[in-house]
Amino acid sequence: MYRSHTCGELRIADVNKEITLSGWVQAIRKFGSITFVDLRDRYGITQLLFAESLNEKLDANPLGREFVLQVKGMVNERSNKNANIPTGEIEIAVSDFTILNKSAVPPFSIQDDTDGGDELRMKYRFMDLRRNVVKKNLELRYAVGRSTRNYLHENNFMDIETPFLIKSTPEGARDFVVPSRMNPGQFYALPQSPQTFKQLLMVSGYDRYYQIVKCFRDEDLRADRQPEFTQIDCEMSFVEQEDILNMFEGLIKRIFKDVKNIDYTAVVERMTWEDAMWNFGNDKPDIRFDIKIANLKFPQHAFPNQPSTAHLINGVSFNVFDDAETVLAIALPGCSEYTRKQTDELTDWVKRPQIGMKGLVFIKCNADGTYKSSVDKFYDADKLKAIAEAANAKIGDLILIVAGAEERTRKATSDLRMYMAERLGLRKADVFKLLWVMDFPLFEYAEDDNRWVARHHPFTSPKPDHIDIMINNNPVIEDAAKYLEHPYASIKANAYDMVLNGNEIGGGSIRIFQRALQEKMFAALGMDAEEQQHKFGFLLGAFEYGAPPHGGLAFGFDRLCALLGGSESIRDFIAFPKNNSGRDVMLDAPSTIDAKQFDELQLKLDLK
Ligand code: ASP
Repeated sequence: MYRSHTCGELRIADVNKEITLSGWVQAIRKFGSITFVDLRDRYGITQLLFAESLNEKLDANPLGREFVLQVKGMVNERSNKNANIPTGEIEIAVSDFTILNKSAVPPFSIQDDTDGGDELRMKYRFMDLRRNVVKKNLELRYAVGRSTRNYLHENNFMDIETPFLIKSTPEGARDFVVPSRMNPGQFYALPQSPQTFKQLLMVSGYDRYYQIVKCFRDEDLRADRQPEFTQIDCEMSFVEQEDILNMFEGLIKRIFKDVKNIDYTAVVERMTWEDAMWNFGNDKPDIRFDIKIANLKFPQHAFPNQPSTAHLINGVSFNVFDDAETVLAIALPGCSEYTRKQTDELTDWVKRPQIGMKGLVFIKCNADGTYKSSVDKFYDADKLKAIAEAANAKIGDLILIVAGAEERTRKATSDLRMYMAERLGLRKADVFKLLWVMDFPLFEYAEDDNRWVARHHPFTSPKPDHIDIMINNNPVIEDAAKYLEHPYASIKANAYDMVLNGNEIGGGSIRIFQRALQEKMFAALGMDAEEQQHKFGFLLGAFEYGAPPHGGLAFGFDRLCALLGGSESIRDFIAFPKNNSGRDVMLDAPSTIDAKQFDELQLKLDLK
């Protein structure tokens, strides 16, 4: 028997028991003829006492860090108790021990605050996984998965596996492909998601499906993206949007309860995509703090439903604003006393290439009720007051104004809002706020090809009362410059994203389930009948055999875990992640393959 207990288990009540433990040597402390060893396993750390007085053969000298050790001994009460660990009241008086295996000197210390850098820890990930902080992350991930499965099981969802070697499903990214030896010159694609399979399962009558499943996307790597990642993928039949929102709010609330012991009793807010863009400048707003964007000027076609506000800034011949397509403002609470140096820093921040703005205009809302701006020459007190009111600014606030082209300016203002909220401590780590963003545009315009692309994916249905716009209009864009005036630009999708603290954690849609509408959609995306048949014949065919109304969504499992664990990085929540260049530095993958493998696959390598 290797062990009678784990290293996290023994307490004062176990004193005088004869026990056996196995684990790794965490630390060794020698004091003359006695040696203390901390023995670690997955469950905790127990202090061992090696004393020659107990057994003269007890020579702890050969031991080293990370050796695998089995010890026998008696549980004793410690004289020097350690209140920081659960086993801190006892120690084991070792009577016998066996070195089960030695260890080379670890490349970094196996501690929470390790001295190992990122790459080194990735290379020795099996060692990194021994660290308590990493283990805690994987435990949290397991808990999120367990909670998910319990909830979905209780709600009649069935876990059904779908294949990994498939044909390309377009979700907007590039496919990873796998050559087929049996079919030379042909390739499988790895799924970007099980989207078409889960829809086929609905046609088959499995009306509540889920899977915690790997997805593969060959995207240009951005920080904290993994080429393979995990989704909680779900689909339901005979549902409308409302049913889906309720079911999956329930799931997230359950996860909060099970994993964080948080009772999320608040109503999950809902916001249209247009309102999100209007008020926050992005489609996944962080609503933990209520700084909203004031739209001082904007192109009407971008927000056809919003009243013009240009009177707020027009008519004073301030060229910067007159020449700009868009002028947006945010009010920072309590920042009116910012020094010149501080405001200059902010100006530098928006001028960085990532943000790309020309500068900032400031209005200080002074304690005495007056305003002081960097454009006092142009705007009198009344005008400044009107702008301050539009920006919802209070006494003591500092208003920042950004001007430029619509898309860039909105994004810059959104980034500035987040940056300042972070600096002002408004993005509180222990506050969780969920939000549904809905009514996305169904199509986006692809300038390069002068055509429409699906914003979500081509299986998403239009909002019920927008279906007619799609059917009754020709998708062809005659005048690229006026694409926003095309009826298709106004079609909203029956789609929804779930946002947590400014992060998109999931998204989905009610699907198209009639062949004719699906064909119309493919055609709108520029696919002729032949291409439709080649790529999606199986789905179009299935829609002819009794496809029920259906819809679903997928959550990004890694991201959800990271957020619940209070981390920005999904890598910390994946047992064996890839680095930011998509490499597995432990395996050294991707790597070349043998000439023989190329031959078998009938592939030629011709690197230019
Ligand atoms: N397959 C979609 C995705 O991966 C989710 C969905 O529409 O259910 O984003």
